Parts: sequence; structure tokens; C-alpha cells
Amino acid sequence: TKHLLEVDGLKKHFPIKKGLFGKTVGAVKAVNDVSFYVKEGETLGIVGESGCGKSTTGRSLVRLLEPTEGKVSFDGQDITKFSANDMRKVRRNIQMVFQDPYASLNPRHTIEKILAEPLIVHGMKDAKKRKEKIYEFLEIVGLNAFHAKRYPHQFSGGQRQRIGIARALMTNPKLIIADEPVSALDVSIQAQVLNLMQDLQKEFNLTYIFIAHDLGVVRHISDRIAVMYLGKIVEITDSNELHQNPMHPYTQALLSAVPIPDPHHDENEVVLEGDMPSPANPPTGCAFHTRCPFKMDVCTKAVPELKEQKPGHFAACHLYNGTNSNDI
Ligand code: SF4
Ligand code: MG
Repeated sequence: TKHLLEVDGLKKHFPIKKGLFGKTVGAVKAVNDVSFYVKEGETLGIVGESGCGKSTTGRSLVRLLEPTEGKVSFDGQDITKFSANDMRKVRRNIQMVFQDPYASLNPRHTIEKILAEPLIVHGMKDAKKRKEKIYEFLEIVGLNAFHAKRYPHQFSGGQRQRIGIARALMTNPKLIIADEPVSALDVSIQAQVLNLMQDLQKEFNLTYIFIAHDLGVVRHISDRIAVMYLGKIVEITDSNELHQNPMHPYTQALLSAVPIPDPHHDENEVVLEGDMPSPANPPTGCAFHTRCPFKMDVCTKAVPELKEQKPGHFAACHLYNGTNSNDI
């Protein structure tokens, strides 16, 4: 399968300004040298705590945020230097679904008007055709024509997310970047929306990037999962492999609802202690060393590279450096 998206050395740094004249005194390295690919038709989950840079990564891919550095190729084209006009054409193929559809749905517009907007932007001039398509997609996401004349506040959270998904589908995209699409929903509703997304993926041959803070949510929908910590991918591999053989201590901690081995504790259980450090002032060496139960001297000094530790399984951790892949 071809790579629909390739990301190479992506960085997004936000300058920190101080004082009357806004002098730049540093940078928040929200996304700090991230590389990955997404295969056509697959779902890549991106997971990490709030502030790890996963949303910023998602937004930088479509240049809702302008990357500081790095290259993003979509469908074989380097879109990093595309003009605003060319980007608009790309955006019909890359749509976003957000956590809070309510915030992104204009409260004064009917659902019909909200869904018509992307069609108008992308040149569907025939009002009758637009209407047909809107009604068709309302049905596809589990709503109906009756809902078209209503306003966003008249819907439940789950229904609003269905509308957000319908809006993303209006332009027949190839890739959907969903940023915490179910995090605001009740657990029972989460499953419904996840099932809908999986059905739509098959029906429309969609490729997904699914961003979430909760590994449990992304597990079943993702083919592969990237774990982010302080602006970097620390581990990336197949979803099942990640759950069965997590290599990076941070991934192990994220899975710590499931106990993980701890050299200092008899119960074979480690709980992640402390908060994530500020991305404006990340720890030296391995950024996870302030919270890692396996920390060694080298960890405070050298940044571990994201390396293929066994076929298809990449992790950035000094524990595995110098190990033969057969020994893992
Ligand atoms: Fe822990 Fe060191 Fe691995 Fe970082 S490199 S995760 S501090 S063992
Ligand atoms: Mg976020």
C-alpha cells in the first residue's frame, strides 16, 4: 500500500516573547522533529498527554498552523510550500474533525447551511445537488432530512459529532484528521461514534489520523499507534504489538491501568508520577527522564533516537541501545 502521507522532521516552535517590545526569549518546542507516514486506508493513532504536541502536529499537517521546519507530503506532493490557493485544493482531501463540534458549528446556522458551506467553498454551485448530497450524508451518519432545518444547540453531543463528521465528508476527502473526536462524549456514545467512523472508513476508503489522550480509545480503531511525549514520538508500531510488548517506559506507564514491571516495587506495578515538564523548558537528554523509573546516567545527557528495535517497532529509549534486536 502506498503512503498517503509522509511527514519528515516536522517542527512547530512557538516563540516566547517578553517585555514591552515583545523580545523573543525562547521557544515552546510543541512539535520537535517528528517523522512518520500514514498508509492509504489505515488508521494511525497519535497518543499522549495533553500538551505533548499531538494536536499541534495534526494542525501543522494541514497548515492550520504553519510548520517551523520539516516536510509534509500528501499523495506524493510536497505541500509544505504550497500557496494558500493550492492548499485550499489540498484541504478538500484532508479534512479535520474536532473534539468539540459545538465550538466549530456556527450556532446561528442550520445544519443544512453548515453542511452546504464546504460544498460551496469547493465549487458545487448547483443548490439542488448540494441539498441532495447533504441529505444523503445526514442519512449516512445516522441522522435524517428532518434534522437539516435544525440548529446545533438542538442536538446532543453525539449527534453534533455526527454532524461534524458529515461536514468533514462533504468534500470526499481521502484523509481525515480527527483530534479527540470522542473525548467529550459519554462512554456509550463514544463507542457509537467510533463504530460509525470505522464503517465510514470502509465505505469511503478513508485514511485516518486519530488523535487521543487515551490509549484505550485509539486501540481498536488504530492499525498503528504513535506515542508522543514532549513534542517527540517516543514509540511507534502496530496497535497490537504496542499493547502486548510496549517498549518505551512512557508507553508502559500509559498502559499502567495494566501493571508494568518496576524495579523498585514488588507488586510489578508502576504509576506515572509527576506532571509533564513544560515544553518551554524540557529536561536534557531523554525528556522523560524526570518521570522514568528506569533512568540511567546516560538518560540525562543524550537524547535517545527513535530506532527500529525490532521489525516495525520503533522506540526512543537508551534501555534498548546496544541491545541486539534478537535479545528483546
Ligand atoms: Fe527512561 Fe532513559 Fe529510556 Fe528515557 S531513555 S525512557 S529515561 S530509560
Ligand atoms: Mg489537544
